[in-house]
Amino acid sequence: MKYDYIIIGGGVHGCAAAYHLAASGAGSIAVIETATLAAEASGGRGKRGVRANRRDLREMPLMREACELWPTLADELGADTGYVRTGGICLVSGNAANGHNGLAAVEATAGAQNALGIPTEVWDRDRILTRLPGIDTTTKAGIYAPLDGVASHGATTQAYAEAGRRLGVDFFENTTAVKIETNASGAAASVLTATEDVFTIGKQLLLANNAGANPLLADLPGGELPLWTIYPQAVFLRSRNRPEIPLLTAHDSRPLSVKVLDDGVIMLSGGWRGTLDPATGRGRTREENIAGNIRSLTETFPGLGELEVIDADASRTETASVDLIPTIGYVAPNVMVATGWSGHGWALAPAVAPRVAESLRARRADSAFAPFSPDRFTL
Ligand SMILES: Cc1cc2nc3c(=O)[nH]c(=O)nc-3n(C[C@H](O)[C@H](O)[C@H](O)COP(=O)(O)OP(=O)(O)OC[C@H]3O[C@@H](n4cnc5c(N)ncnc54)[C@H](O)[C@@H]3O)c2cc1C
Repeated sequence: MKYDYIIIGGGVHGCAAAYHLAASGAGSIAVIETATLAAEASGGRGKRGVRANRRDLREMPLMREACELWPTLADELGADTGYVRTGGICLVSGNAANGHNGLAAVEATAGAQNALGIPTEVWDRDRILTRLPGIDTTTKAGIYAPLDGVASHGATTQAYAEAGRRLGVDFFENTTAVKIETNASGAAASVLTATEDVFTIGKQLLLANNAGANPLLADLPGGELPLWTIYPQAVFLRSRNRPEIPLLTAHDSRPLSVKVLDDGVIMLSGGWRGTLDPATGRGRTREENIAGNIRSLTETFPGLGELEVIDADASRTETASVDLIPTIGYVAPNVMVATGWSGHGWALAPAVAPRVAESLRARRADSAFAPFSPDRFTL
């Protein structure tokens, strides 16, 4: 089989890049996915945060663009994305230590975000209480970003894939890429699969397979990137008392991200991790981390009453990078990689994908990807 563009990975970034390539009339496109679409970080229960607030400043130009694109994405793709612009807040209770910013940094953070085009306000306690009446007594201020929101990750990924399919993209599910074969000049010539099929690369190859990228990069002259696999934890709860948490809510010094789903279920994340289960080769939750995540919630919203854990999941792999920003760029003359999202790659997808597609067509990484270049790891 020969395709002009081959994409490994059927998560949001692979499906979205395929859609944008196809929409630009770029020729034949195949997406190779080892399981089913949205099987890893881009799938699962609940919603993902579309968050600019407190994001690494190097990601802000792309995130500003993404904030503009999210509200109309469903219309463009012709399917629901579950996007809601809730607004997002990071609560601050003191002059926190250990790398957190605390009250002293609130104005500076808001100023920097505003300067980078992310509207940001500093809220005092009284203002916060008008939207989040249940906050604890220690909360003194909040950094509020009105453009933040949430979206359905599985639905959005499927919407990108369906839109791509309508434009002629071929999706190969249950197909595992096991090796990239190179030619004498170091360019990728073909992708071999676990069932010994050969996908010949007509023009360009994109590795959008997140935690699966490094094993394949080992075949290329540049070798592996300084990335590792993480198992982000999501916890789903019902509270006895109705949660009045309409904003995407995080905390400056507690590992916590809260969103209340349409059915009233409270979804928690915020940096807690699961661990690899060697028996299954997948992530599994850790009781102490579920308890820790819930403690962060109840310290911040003490009046929720009895909480019932209805689900907890740490099975979805994600990739972290040493500097906690993504890696997007060329690793061989015709091989681009987009990985290393470090737990926050979802929200960027609508801005990243068209630029990845354009980069593949131009055979040169878009200038917006300069901070994320794989070259930053070499002298
Ligand atoms: C619990 C959790 C909460 C998160 N919360 C947020 C959030 O609130 N906001 C935010 O912005 N981000 C969030 N993220 C991160 C975000 O979901 C990811 O950064 C993003 O979905 C990555 O998309 P992707 O397409 O690059 O990777 P993935 O969705 O992981 O897709 C990669 C695909 O490649 C496939 N694959 C791997 N190896 C191979 C191979 N050899 N051959 C073929 N296919 C292969 C996999 O099966 C997978 O389907 C969260 C992640 C998790 C897990």
